[in-house]
Amino acid sequence: MEDVKRVAGSRLPVAVIGGGWAGCAAAVTLARAGRAVTIFEAAPTLGGRARRVARDGLPLDNGQHLLLGAYTRALELLAIVHDHATFERLLTRRPLTLLPLSPTQPNALALVRRHAPGALGLAIGLLDAQGLTWRERFANLLWFVALKRERFTRPLGETVAQLLAPLPTRAAQRLWAPLCLAALNTPIAEASAQIFANVLRAAFAGRGDASDFILPVTDLSTLFPEAAARYVSERAGQLRLGNHARVVTADAQCATLASEDGQRTVSAAIIAVGPHQVSDAFAPEALASIPSLAAAVAATQALTYEPIVTVWIGLASPIALPAPIARLDDAPGQWIVDRPDVLARSTPDAARPPIVQLLAVIISAGGPHMKLPHDELARRVDAQVRRLVAGCGPCVWSQVIAEKRATYACTPHRARPASPALTPTLFLAGDYVDAEYPATLEAAVRSGIAAAEALLNGSPHSACARSRNTYF
Ligand SMILES: Cc1cc2nc3c(=O)[nH]c(=O)nc-3n(C[C@H](O)[C@H](O)[C@H](O)COP(=O)(O)OP(=O)(O)OC[C@H]3O[C@@H](n4cnc5c(N)ncnc54)[C@H](O)[C@@H]3O)c2cc1C
Repeated sequence: MEDVKRVAGSRLPVAVIGGGWAGCAAAVTLARAGRAVTIFEAAPTLGGRARRVARDGLPLDNGQHLLLGAYTRALELLAIVHDHATFERLLTRRPLTLLPLSPTQPNALALVRRHAPGALGLAIGLLDAQGLTWRERFANLLWFVALKRERFTRPLGETVAQLLAPLPTRAAQRLWAPLCLAALNTPIAEASAQIFANVLRAAFAGRGDASDFILPVTDLSTLFPEAAARYVSERAGQLRLGNHARVVTADAQCATLASEDGQRTVSAAIIAVGPHQVSDAFAPEALASIPSLAAAVAATQALTYEPIVTVWIGLASPIALPAPIARLDDAPGQWIVDRPDVLARSTPDAARPPIVQLLAVIISAGGPHMKLPHDELARRVDAQVRRLVAGCGPCVWSQVIAEKRATYACTPHRARPASPALTPTLFLAGDYVDAEYPATLEAAVRSGIAAAEALLNGSPHSACARSRNTYF
Protein backbone atom coordinates (compact mmCIF):
# COMPACT_ATOMS: atom_id res chain seq x y z
CA MET A 1 0.00 0.00 0.00
CA GLU A 2 2.95 2.31 0.70
CA ASP A 3 4.09 1.76 -2.88
CA VAL A 4 0.69 2.65 -4.22
CA LYS A 5 0.63 5.87 -2.22
CA ARG A 6 4.05 6.82 -3.59
CA VAL A 7 2.74 6.29 -7.13
CA ALA A 8 -0.38 8.34 -6.45
CA GLY A 9 1.81 11.18 -5.30
CA SER A 10 4.22 10.92 -8.18
CA ARG A 11 4.69 13.96 -10.36
CA LEU A 12 5.64 11.95 -13.43
CA PRO A 13 2.88 11.86 -16.04
CA VAL A 14 0.58 8.90 -16.49
CA ALA A 15 0.77 7.29 -19.94
CA VAL A 16 -2.38 6.21 -21.70
CA ILE A 17 -1.49 3.79 -24.50
CA GLY A 18 -4.29 3.84 -27.08
CA GLY A 19 -6.45 6.82 -28.02
CA GLY A 20 -9.77 5.07 -28.68
CA TRP A 21 -12.83 5.90 -26.59
CA ALA A 22 -11.52 3.87 -23.62
CA GLY A 23 -8.13 5.62 -23.61
CA CYS A 24 -9.73 9.05 -24.05
CA ALA A 25 -12.16 8.33 -21.19
CA ALA A 26 -9.25 7.33 -18.95
CA ALA A 27 -7.27 10.44 -19.93
CA VAL A 28 -10.20 12.80 -19.25
CA THR A 29 -10.83 11.18 -15.85
CA LEU A 30 -7.17 11.56 -14.87
CA ALA A 31 -6.89 15.13 -16.17
CA ARG A 32 -10.05 16.04 -14.30
CA ALA A 33 -8.42 14.72 -11.11
CA GLY A 34 -5.39 16.94 -11.73
CA ARG A 35 -2.99 14.29 -13.07
CA ALA A 36 -0.71 15.04 -16.02
CA VAL A 37 -1.44 12.61 -18.85
CA THR A 38 0.29 11.70 -22.10
CA ILE A 39 -1.82 9.83 -24.66
CA PHE A 40 0.09 7.63 -27.10
CA GLU A 41 -1.88 6.70 -30.21
CA ALA A 42 -0.32 4.50 -32.89
CA ALA A 43 -2.65 5.76 -35.65
CA PRO A 44 -2.43 9.29 -37.10
CA THR A 45 -5.82 10.13 -35.51
CA LEU A 46 -7.65 9.43 -32.27
CA GLY A 47 -10.85 7.40 -32.03
CA GLY A 48 -9.83 3.81 -32.82
CA ARG A 49 -12.91 1.88 -33.85
CA ALA A 50 -15.20 4.94 -33.56
CA ARG A 51 -13.73 7.74 -35.64
CA ARG A 52 -14.27 10.06 -38.60
CA VAL A 53 -13.24 8.82 -42.05
CA ALA A 54 -13.34 11.48 -44.77
CA ARG A 55 -14.24 10.35 -48.29
CA ASP A 56 -14.79 12.61 -51.33
CA GLY A 57 -15.35 15.63 -49.08
CA LEU A 58 -17.83 13.81 -46.81
CA PRO A 59 -16.96 13.49 -43.09
CA LEU A 60 -18.22 9.90 -42.73
CA ASP A 61 -17.61 7.59 -39.79
CA ASN A 62 -15.77 4.27 -39.98
CA GLY A 63 -19.11 2.80 -38.91
CA GLN A 64 -22.56 4.15 -38.14
CA HIS A 65 -22.93 4.12 -34.33
CA LEU A 66 -26.04 4.14 -32.16
CA LEU A 67 -26.09 4.82 -28.41
CA LEU A 68 -28.81 3.94 -25.91
CA GLY A 69 -30.19 6.16 -23.17
CA ALA A 70 -28.72 3.60 -20.75
CA TYR A 71 -25.19 4.53 -21.87
CA THR A 72 -24.97 6.94 -18.96
CA ARG A 73 -21.19 6.99 -18.43
CA ALA A 74 -20.52 7.82 -22.08
CA LEU A 75 -23.19 10.54 -22.04
CA GLU A 76 -21.82 12.01 -18.78
CA LEU A 77 -18.33 12.18 -20.25
CA LEU A 78 -19.59 13.88 -23.42
CA ALA A 79 -21.24 16.47 -21.17
CA ILE A 80 -17.88 17.05 -19.43
CA VAL A 81 -15.79 17.60 -22.56
CA HIS A 82 -18.36 19.77 -24.38
CA ASP A 83 -20.12 22.88 -23.18
CA HIS A 84 -23.84 22.39 -22.63
CA ALA A 85 -25.01 24.03 -25.87
CA THR A 86 -22.57 21.98 -27.99
CA PHE A 87 -23.47 18.75 -26.19
CA GLU A 88 -27.17 19.35 -26.93
CA ARG A 89 -26.40 19.90 -30.62
CA LEU A 90 -24.28 16.79 -31.17
CA LEU A 91 -26.88 14.10 -30.48
CA THR A 92 -30.51 13.41 -31.34
CA ARG A 93 -32.57 11.38 -28.98
CA ARG A 94 -35.96 9.70 -29.36
CA PRO A 95 -37.78 6.83 -27.65
CA LEU A 96 -36.78 3.38 -28.92
CA THR A 97 -38.49 3.21 -32.29
CA LEU A 98 -38.53 0.06 -34.38
CA LEU A 99 -40.15 0.95 -37.68
CA PRO A 100 -39.67 -0.88 -40.98
CA LEU A 101 -38.46 1.07 -44.01
CA SER A 102 -41.38 -0.52 -45.88
CA PRO A 103 -44.59 -1.50 -44.05
CA THR A 104 -44.87 -4.48 -46.39
CA GLN A 105 -41.40 -5.95 -45.82
CA PRO A 106 -41.60 -9.53 -44.53
CA ASN A 107 -40.19 -8.88 -41.04
CA ALA A 108 -42.14 -5.64 -40.51
CA LEU A 109 -42.61 -4.79 -36.84
CA ALA A 110 -43.68 -1.33 -35.70
CA LEU A 111 -42.97 -0.69 -32.03
CA VAL A 112 -42.34 2.53 -30.13
CA ARG A 113 -41.41 2.29 -26.47
CA ARG A 114 -43.31 4.75 -24.30
CA HIS A 115 -41.56 6.92 -21.72
CA ALA A 116 -43.02 5.11 -18.72
CA PRO A 117 -40.69 3.72 -16.05
CA GLY A 118 -39.51 0.12 -15.92
CA ALA A 119 -41.23 -2.62 -17.86
CA LEU A 120 -44.39 -0.50 -18.16
CA GLY A 121 -43.00 1.49 -21.11
CA LEU A 122 -42.14 -1.74 -22.90
CA ALA A 123 -45.54 -3.23 -22.07
CA ILE A 124 -47.42 -0.26 -23.54
CA GLY A 125 -45.17 -0.30 -26.62
CA LEU A 126 -45.69 -4.04 -27.08
CA LEU A 127 -49.46 -3.85 -26.71
CA ASP A 128 -49.52 -1.09 -29.35
CA ALA A 129 -47.07 -2.89 -31.65
CA GLN A 130 -47.99 -3.82 -35.18
CA GLY A 131 -46.59 -6.86 -36.97
CA LEU A 132 -47.14 -9.25 -34.04
CA THR A 133 -50.29 -11.18 -33.18
CA TRP A 134 -51.86 -10.63 -29.75
CA ARG A 135 -50.48 -14.01 -28.72
CA GLU A 136 -46.97 -12.97 -29.77
CA ARG A 137 -47.24 -9.63 -27.98
CA PHE A 138 -48.33 -11.27 -24.71
CA ALA A 139 -45.70 -13.99 -25.09
CA ASN A 140 -42.98 -11.32 -25.40
CA LEU A 141 -44.30 -9.46 -22.40
CA LEU A 142 -44.57 -12.54 -20.18
CA TRP A 143 -41.10 -13.63 -21.26
CA PHE A 144 -39.67 -10.26 -20.26
CA VAL A 145 -41.51 -10.29 -16.91
CA ALA A 146 -40.09 -13.78 -16.20
CA LEU A 147 -36.58 -12.56 -17.06
CA LYS A 148 -37.05 -9.62 -14.72
CA ARG A 149 -38.35 -11.88 -11.95
CA GLU A 150 -35.13 -13.88 -12.27
CA ARG A 151 -33.26 -10.57 -11.82
CA PHE A 152 -31.82 -10.88 -15.33
CA THR A 153 -29.49 -13.64 -14.18
CA ARG A 154 -28.82 -16.38 -16.72
CA PRO A 155 -27.06 -19.72 -16.36
CA LEU A 156 -23.38 -19.75 -17.27
CA GLY A 157 -22.95 -20.74 -20.90
CA GLU A 158 -26.53 -20.03 -22.03
CA THR A 159 -26.94 -18.51 -25.51
CA VAL A 160 -29.52 -15.92 -26.53
CA ALA A 161 -31.16 -18.54 -28.79
CA GLN A 162 -31.68 -20.72 -25.70
CA LEU A 163 -32.98 -17.75 -23.72
CA LEU A 164 -35.49 -16.99 -26.49
CA ALA A 165 -36.52 -20.64 -26.97
CA PRO A 166 -39.81 -20.35 -24.98
CA LEU A 167 -41.06 -17.61 -27.36
CA PRO A 168 -42.96 -18.17 -30.62
CA THR A 169 -40.27 -18.01 -33.34
CA ARG A 170 -41.72 -14.95 -35.08
CA ALA A 171 -42.00 -13.01 -31.80
CA ALA A 172 -38.33 -13.64 -31.07
CA GLN A 173 -37.16 -13.06 -34.64
CA ARG A 174 -38.93 -9.75 -35.11
CA LEU A 175 -38.07 -8.09 -31.82
CA TRP A 176 -35.26 -9.58 -29.76
CA ALA A 177 -33.05 -11.15 -32.45
CA PRO A 178 -32.39 -7.85 -34.30
CA LEU A 179 -31.83 -6.03 -30.99
CA CYS A 180 -29.36 -8.72 -29.94
CA LEU A 181 -27.48 -8.49 -33.24
CA ALA A 182 -27.37 -4.70 -33.02
CA ALA A 183 -26.24 -4.60 -29.38
CA LEU A 184 -23.92 -7.63 -29.18
CA ASN A 185 -22.85 -7.85 -32.85
CA THR A 186 -23.20 -11.60 -32.45
CA PRO A 187 -25.96 -13.84 -33.88
CA ILE A 188 -28.41 -15.21 -31.29
CA ALA A 189 -27.20 -18.80 -31.77
CA GLU A 190 -23.78 -17.79 -30.44
CA ALA A 191 -24.48 -14.71 -28.30
CA SER A 192 -24.19 -14.69 -24.50
CA ALA A 193 -27.61 -14.70 -22.82
CA GLN A 194 -26.15 -13.06 -19.70
CA ILE A 195 -24.74 -10.06 -21.57
CA PHE A 196 -27.97 -9.66 -23.55
CA ALA A 197 -29.92 -9.83 -20.27
CA ASN A 198 -27.64 -7.09 -18.89
CA VAL A 199 -28.50 -4.89 -21.88
CA LEU A 200 -32.22 -5.59 -21.49
CA ARG A 201 -32.08 -4.77 -17.77
CA ALA A 202 -30.28 -1.49 -18.45
CA ALA A 203 -32.62 -0.51 -21.30
CA PHE A 204 -36.02 -1.76 -20.14
CA ALA A 205 -36.03 -2.21 -16.37
CA GLY A 206 -34.97 1.23 -15.22
CA ARG A 207 -35.71 4.79 -16.29
CA GLY A 208 -38.27 5.26 -19.04
CA ASP A 209 -35.69 6.92 -21.30
CA ALA A 210 -32.97 4.27 -20.84
CA SER A 211 -33.94 2.54 -24.09
CA ASP A 212 -33.90 5.80 -26.09
CA PHE A 213 -32.11 5.62 -29.41
CA ILE A 214 -29.39 8.28 -29.47
CA LEU A 215 -27.80 9.09 -32.81
CA PRO A 216 -24.75 11.32 -33.25
CA VAL A 217 -25.39 14.24 -35.59
CA THR A 218 -21.71 14.90 -35.97
CA ASP A 219 -18.78 12.66 -36.79
CA LEU A 220 -17.50 10.34 -34.07
CA SER A 221 -14.10 12.06 -33.73
CA THR A 222 -15.74 15.42 -33.06
CA LEU A 223 -18.22 13.77 -30.71
CA PHE A 224 -15.64 12.59 -28.21
CA PRO A 225 -11.94 11.85 -28.94
CA GLU A 226 -11.02 15.29 -30.29
CA ALA A 227 -12.95 17.07 -27.53
CA ALA A 228 -11.28 14.76 -24.97
CA ALA A 229 -7.85 15.62 -26.39
CA ARG A 230 -8.64 19.35 -26.08
CA TYR A 231 -9.81 18.84 -22.50
CA VAL A 232 -6.61 16.96 -21.61
CA SER A 233 -4.31 19.47 -23.40
CA GLU A 234 -5.91 22.36 -21.51
CA ARG A 235 -4.91 20.56 -18.30
CA ALA A 236 -1.21 20.13 -19.09
CA GLY A 237 -1.72 16.83 -20.90
CA GLN A 238 0.09 15.81 -24.07
CA LEU A 239 -0.90 13.95 -27.19
CA ARG A 240 1.50 11.78 -29.21
CA LEU A 241 -0.19 10.75 -32.44
CA GLY A 242 1.33 8.20 -34.81
CA ASN A 243 3.26 6.94 -31.82
CA HIS A 244 3.21 3.22 -31.09
CA ALA A 245 4.13 2.61 -27.44
CA ARG A 246 5.05 -0.47 -25.43
CA VAL A 247 5.54 -1.19 -21.76
CA VAL A 248 9.11 -2.37 -21.19
CA THR A 249 9.25 -2.64 -17.40
CA ALA A 250 6.98 -1.89 -14.47
CA ASP A 251 7.55 -2.02 -10.73
CA ALA A 252 5.62 -0.68 -7.76
CA GLN A 253 6.83 2.91 -8.30
CA CYS A 254 6.82 3.52 -12.05
CA ALA A 255 6.75 2.03 -15.54
CA THR A 256 9.09 2.42 -18.49
CA LEU A 257 7.77 2.75 -22.02
CA ALA A 258 9.42 2.53 -25.41
CA SER A 259 7.78 4.62 -28.11
CA GLU A 260 8.81 6.24 -31.39
CA ASP A 261 10.12 9.16 -29.25
CA GLY A 262 12.48 6.87 -27.35
CA GLN A 263 12.32 5.45 -23.85
CA ARG A 264 10.61 7.28 -20.97
CA THR A 265 9.59 6.71 -17.38
CA VAL A 266 6.01 7.35 -16.33
CA SER A 267 4.30 7.10 -12.96
CA ALA A 268 1.85 4.51 -14.33
CA ALA A 269 0.39 3.34 -17.63
CA ILE A 270 -3.15 2.57 -18.72
CA ILE A 271 -3.09 0.16 -21.64
CA ALA A 272 -6.23 0.99 -23.63
CA VAL A 273 -5.56 -0.83 -26.89
CA GLY A 274 -7.92 -3.13 -28.78
CA PRO A 275 -8.07 -6.70 -27.44
CA HIS A 276 -6.06 -8.11 -30.37
CA GLN A 277 -3.35 -5.50 -29.72
CA VAL A 278 -2.75 -6.25 -26.03
CA SER A 279 0.24 -8.58 -26.31
CA ASP A 280 1.91 -6.17 -28.75
CA ALA A 281 1.64 -3.35 -26.18
CA PHE A 282 4.20 -5.12 -23.98
CA ALA A 283 7.85 -5.75 -24.81
CA PRO A 284 8.92 -9.42 -24.48
CA GLU A 285 10.85 -8.62 -21.28
CA ALA A 286 7.67 -7.17 -19.71
CA LEU A 287 5.65 -10.23 -20.73
CA ALA A 288 8.29 -12.45 -19.19
CA SER A 289 8.70 -10.52 -15.93
CA ILE A 290 5.14 -9.47 -14.95
CA PRO A 291 3.24 -12.59 -13.84
CA SER A 292 -0.24 -10.99 -13.84
CA LEU A 293 0.07 -10.22 -17.55
CA ALA A 294 -0.19 -13.85 -18.61
CA ALA A 295 -3.89 -14.25 -17.71
CA ALA A 296 -4.85 -10.94 -19.33
CA VAL A 297 -3.01 -11.76 -22.54
CA ALA A 298 -4.49 -15.28 -22.58
CA ALA A 299 -8.00 -13.81 -22.20
CA THR A 300 -7.54 -11.52 -25.19
CA GLN A 301 -5.91 -14.21 -27.32
CA ALA A 302 -8.92 -16.50 -26.77
CA LEU A 303 -11.33 -13.93 -28.24
CA THR A 304 -12.80 -14.23 -31.72
CA TYR A 305 -14.16 -11.28 -33.68
CA GLU A 306 -17.20 -10.20 -35.67
CA PRO A 307 -17.24 -7.63 -38.48
CA ILE A 308 -19.57 -4.67 -39.05
CA VAL A 309 -20.05 -3.23 -42.53
CA THR A 310 -21.45 0.24 -43.16
CA VAL A 311 -22.58 0.92 -46.72
CA TRP A 312 -22.91 4.66 -47.29
CA ILE A 313 -25.19 5.50 -50.20
CA GLY A 314 -25.88 8.88 -51.75
CA LEU A 315 -29.17 9.52 -53.55
CA ALA A 316 -29.90 12.18 -56.16
CA SER A 317 -33.57 12.32 -55.13
CA PRO A 318 -34.63 11.81 -51.50
CA ILE A 319 -36.74 9.04 -49.99
CA ALA A 320 -38.85 9.31 -46.84
CA LEU A 321 -37.72 7.25 -43.84
CA PRO A 322 -40.33 6.53 -41.12
CA ALA A 323 -37.74 7.59 -38.50
CA PRO A 324 -34.07 8.66 -38.56
CA ILE A 325 -33.19 4.97 -38.11
CA ALA A 326 -35.37 2.25 -39.65
CA ARG A 327 -35.29 -1.53 -39.97
CA LEU A 328 -34.49 -3.20 -43.28
CA ASP A 329 -35.35 -6.75 -44.29
CA ASP A 330 -31.83 -8.12 -43.66
CA ALA A 331 -31.22 -8.81 -47.34
CA PRO A 332 -28.47 -7.74 -46.93
CA GLY A 333 -28.86 -4.45 -44.98
CA GLN A 334 -30.26 -4.61 -41.43
CA TRP A 335 -30.75 -0.95 -40.46
CA ILE A 336 -30.78 2.29 -42.42
CA VAL A 337 -29.90 5.69 -40.95
CA ASP A 338 -30.52 9.11 -42.47
CA ARG A 339 -27.42 11.33 -42.14
CA PRO A 340 -28.29 14.85 -43.36
CA ASP A 341 -25.70 16.21 -40.90
CA VAL A 342 -22.86 14.63 -42.90
CA LEU A 343 -24.02 16.35 -46.08
CA ALA A 344 -24.38 19.63 -44.18
CA ARG A 345 -20.72 19.43 -43.10
CA SER A 346 -19.36 18.26 -46.47
CA THR A 347 -16.82 20.19 -48.49
CA PRO A 348 -16.90 20.45 -52.31
CA ASP A 349 -15.12 17.60 -54.05
CA ALA A 350 -14.92 16.99 -57.78
CA ALA A 351 -15.06 13.20 -57.26
CA ARG A 352 -18.53 13.39 -55.73
CA PRO A 353 -21.66 13.81 -57.86
CA PRO A 354 -24.50 15.95 -56.47
CA ILE A 355 -26.14 14.10 -53.55
CA VAL A 356 -29.33 15.23 -51.82
CA GLN A 357 -29.61 12.43 -49.26
CA LEU A 358 -26.92 10.36 -47.55
CA LEU A 359 -27.90 7.07 -45.91
CA ALA A 360 -25.85 4.66 -43.81
CA VAL A 361 -26.85 1.01 -44.13
CA ILE A 362 -25.58 -1.25 -41.35
CA ILE A 363 -24.78 -4.96 -41.60
CA SER A 364 -23.69 -6.42 -38.25
CA ALA A 365 -21.78 -9.70 -37.78
CA GLY A 366 -20.40 -12.05 -40.41
CA GLY A 367 -22.22 -13.65 -43.31
CA PRO A 368 -22.01 -14.23 -47.06
CA HIS A 369 -21.90 -10.45 -47.64
CA MET A 370 -18.33 -10.44 -46.30
CA LYS A 371 -17.19 -12.40 -49.37
CA LEU A 372 -18.60 -9.88 -51.86
CA PRO A 373 -16.44 -7.24 -53.54
CA HIS A 374 -17.38 -3.81 -52.16
CA ASP A 375 -18.86 -2.64 -55.49
CA GLU A 376 -21.16 -5.65 -55.58
CA LEU A 377 -22.23 -5.20 -51.94
CA ALA A 378 -23.04 -1.53 -52.59
CA ARG A 379 -25.03 -2.57 -55.67
CA ARG A 380 -27.05 -5.09 -53.61
CA VAL A 381 -27.78 -2.57 -50.87
CA ASP A 382 -28.86 -0.04 -53.49
CA ALA A 383 -31.16 -2.68 -55.06
CA GLN A 384 -32.52 -3.55 -51.59
CA VAL A 385 -33.48 0.05 -50.82
CA ARG A 386 -35.11 0.44 -54.25
CA ARG A 387 -37.01 -2.83 -53.75
CA LEU A 388 -38.39 -1.56 -50.42
CA VAL A 389 -39.16 2.02 -51.48
CA ALA A 390 -41.28 2.35 -54.59
CA GLY A 391 -40.00 5.05 -56.93
CA CYS A 392 -36.58 5.36 -55.27
CA GLY A 393 -33.96 6.32 -57.86
CA PRO A 394 -30.58 4.54 -58.00
CA CYS A 395 -27.80 5.70 -55.74
CA VAL A 396 -25.27 7.99 -57.41
CA TRP A 397 -22.43 7.57 -54.90
CA SER A 398 -21.47 4.84 -52.46
CA GLN A 399 -18.73 3.90 -50.06
CA VAL A 400 -18.38 0.57 -48.25
CA ILE A 401 -16.45 0.55 -44.97
CA ALA A 402 -15.90 -2.96 -43.62
CA GLU A 403 -14.41 -3.27 -40.15
CA LYS A 404 -13.39 -6.92 -40.01
CA ARG A 405 -12.60 -6.88 -36.29
CA ALA A 406 -15.33 -4.46 -35.26
CA THR A 407 -16.02 -6.15 -31.91
CA TYR A 408 -15.12 -9.34 -30.11
CA ALA A 409 -17.74 -12.06 -30.54
CA CYS A 410 -19.88 -11.75 -27.42
CA THR A 411 -20.20 -15.48 -26.72
CA PRO A 412 -20.74 -17.34 -23.43
CA HIS A 413 -17.64 -18.59 -21.59
CA ARG A 414 -15.73 -15.50 -22.67
CA ALA A 415 -12.89 -14.68 -20.31
CA ARG A 416 -12.10 -11.12 -19.32
CA PRO A 417 -9.44 -9.72 -17.00
CA ALA A 418 -10.71 -9.91 -13.42
CA SER A 419 -9.57 -6.37 -12.57
CA PRO A 420 -8.26 -3.33 -14.44
CA ALA A 421 -5.19 -3.32 -12.16
CA LEU A 422 -2.41 -5.60 -13.41
CA THR A 423 0.21 -4.19 -11.03
CA PRO A 424 0.28 -1.00 -8.91
CA THR A 425 1.46 0.88 -12.01
CA LEU A 426 -0.20 -0.96 -14.92
CA PHE A 427 -3.92 -0.87 -15.70
CA LEU A 428 -6.05 -2.26 -18.51
CA ALA A 429 -8.91 -0.49 -20.28
CA GLY A 430 -10.90 -1.28 -23.41
CA ASP A 431 -14.37 -2.48 -24.33
CA TYR A 432 -13.33 -6.10 -23.68
CA VAL A 433 -12.52 -5.35 -20.00
CA ASP A 434 -16.00 -4.19 -18.96
CA ALA A 435 -18.09 -6.79 -17.12
CA GLU A 436 -21.59 -5.49 -17.88
CA TYR A 437 -21.89 -4.44 -21.49
CA PRO A 438 -20.98 -5.95 -24.85
CA ALA A 439 -18.33 -4.22 -26.99
CA THR A 440 -19.83 -0.75 -27.17
CA LEU A 441 -18.86 2.86 -26.64
CA GLU A 442 -20.36 2.57 -23.16
CA ALA A 443 -18.20 -0.47 -22.31
CA ALA A 444 -15.11 1.34 -23.61
CA VAL A 445 -15.86 4.49 -21.60
CA ARG A 446 -16.76 2.57 -18.44
CA SER A 447 -13.52 0.61 -18.65
CA GLY A 448 -11.46 3.77 -19.16
CA ILE A 449 -13.05 5.48 -16.17
CA ALA A 450 -12.64 2.32 -14.04
CA ALA A 451 -8.93 2.04 -14.92
CA ALA A 452 -8.32 5.72 -14.13
CA GLU A 453 -10.21 5.46 -10.84
CA ALA A 454 -8.30 2.30 -9.87
CA LEU A 455 -5.07 4.19 -10.54
CA LEU A 456 -6.17 7.27 -8.60
CA ASN A 457 -7.43 5.22 -5.66
CA GLY A 458 -4.39 2.94 -5.57
CA SER A 459 -6.60 -0.08 -6.26
CA PRO A 460 -5.08 -3.30 -4.90
CA HIS A 461 -3.91 -5.51 -7.74
CA SER A 462 -3.16 -8.65 -5.74
CA ALA A 463 -6.54 -10.23 -6.48
CA CYS A 464 -5.79 -9.95 -10.16
CA ALA A 465 -2.28 -11.31 -9.81
CA ARG A 466 -3.69 -14.35 -8.00
CA SER A 467 -6.77 -15.00 -10.08
CA ARG A 468 -6.85 -15.96 -13.68
CA ASN A 469 -9.86 -14.41 -15.39
CA THR A 470 -13.58 -13.96 -14.86
CA TYR A 471 -15.94 -15.94 -17.08
CA PHE A 472 -19.45 -15.10 -18.31
C1 LIG B 1 -18.21 -0.42 -37.58
C2 LIG B 1 -18.47 -0.38 -36.10
C3 LIG B 1 -19.75 -0.09 -35.63
C4 LIG B 1 -19.99 -0.05 -34.25
N1 LIG B 1 -21.23 0.29 -33.81
C5 LIG B 1 -21.42 0.55 -32.49
C6 LIG B 1 -22.63 1.11 -32.04
O1 LIG B 1 -23.57 1.34 -32.80
N2 LIG B 1 -22.75 1.41 -30.71
C7 LIG B 1 -21.73 1.19 -29.83
O2 LIG B 1 -21.88 1.53 -28.65
N3 LIG B 1 -20.56 0.62 -30.23
C8 LIG B 1 -20.38 0.30 -31.54
N4 LIG B 1 -19.19 -0.21 -31.97
C9 LIG B 1 -18.19 -0.63 -30.97
C10 LIG B 1 -17.34 0.54 -30.46
O3 LIG B 1 -16.91 1.35 -31.52
C11 LIG B 1 -16.11 -0.05 -29.74
O4 LIG B 1 -16.56 -0.90 -28.71
C12 LIG B 1 -15.24 1.04 -29.11
O5 LIG B 1 -14.94 2.05 -30.04
C13 LIG B 1 -13.94 0.40 -28.61
O6 LIG B 1 -13.11 1.39 -28.06
P1 LIG B 1 -11.73 1.02 -27.35
O7 LIG B 1 -11.12 2.29 -26.93
O8 LIG B 1 -11.97 -0.04 -26.34
O9 LIG B 1 -10.83 0.31 -28.47
P2 LIG B 1 -10.25 0.87 -29.85
O10 LIG B 1 -11.24 1.78 -30.47
O11 LIG B 1 -9.83 -0.32 -30.63
O12 LIG B 1 -9.00 1.75 -29.43
C14 LIG B 1 -7.71 1.24 -29.27
C15 LIG B 1 -6.71 2.27 -29.78
O13 LIG B 1 -5.40 1.88 -29.39
C16 LIG B 1 -4.51 2.17 -30.45
N5 LIG B 1 -3.32 1.34 -30.24
C17 LIG B 1 -3.23 -0.01 -30.33
N6 LIG B 1 -2.00 -0.43 -29.97
C18 LIG B 1 -1.30 0.69 -29.64
C19 LIG B 1 0.02 0.91 -29.15
N7 LIG B 1 0.86 -0.11 -28.88
N8 LIG B 1 0.44 2.19 -28.95
C20 LIG B 1 -0.41 3.23 -29.16
N9 LIG B 1 -1.68 3.07 -29.60
C21 LIG B 1 -2.13 1.81 -29.82
C22 LIG B 1 -5.33 1.84 -31.68
O14 LIG B 1 -4.78 2.46 -32.84
C23 LIG B 1 -6.70 2.38 -31.30
O15 LIG B 1 -6.85 3.73 -31.67
C24 LIG B 1 -18.93 -0.32 -33.34
C25 LIG B 1 -17.65 -0.62 -33.81
C26 LIG B 1 -17.42 -0.64 -35.17
C27 LIG B 1 -16.03 -0.93 -35.66
